[in-house]
Amino acid sequence: MKKIRYLLLFVLIVTFFSISIILKNMEDSTILSNANTLSNKKIGWGIKRNNNHEQPDLGSENIKILTENHGIAIGNSESKKIYLTFDEGYEAGYTPEILKVLKQNRVKAAFFITAHFVNTEPDLVKEMIDEGHIVGNHTINHKSMPDLNSEQIKSEVMRFASNNL
Ligand SMILES: [Zn+2]
Repeated sequence: MKKIRYLLLFVLIVTFFSISIILKNMEDSTILSNANTLSNKKIGWGIKRNNNHEQPDLGSENIKILTENHGIAIGNSESKKIYLTFDEGYEAGYTPEILKVLKQNRVKAAFFITAHFVNTEPDLVKEMIDEGHIVGNHTINHKSMPDLNSEQIKSEVMRFASNNL
């Protein structure tokens, strides 16, 4: 129980700092409010897994971008904590089992949902909330953001807030 509380506390702290970083960046620059001035070069995002119990490799270009933008993608290697996040854009029907296992083990996670998921699986979204998981916005249509203009990006993100799915 104590470990779960630490995990939940840490997720909340990471969320708080992530929001703080976003807000700080918004204060520091108006560039972030206009996607047309940002690079739309596509960069693969992923991790290079290993079998030696070390943290995965994020790739040098991703590390550079994260560092420049004060982003956080990986925790302290000395700490024995993991953070579970689930992309509901490609959930492939595993979510009910994932929720069951998390509940059995009293573990909280973060689920990032799309409009399609909320419209087709409202009971699972309710279960996530009722079980105390974090439910985050993963855009309306799970599109590739570099392909969109500012208005389209705003629509993809903000229509969740307006409840206009
Ligand atoms: Zn995704």
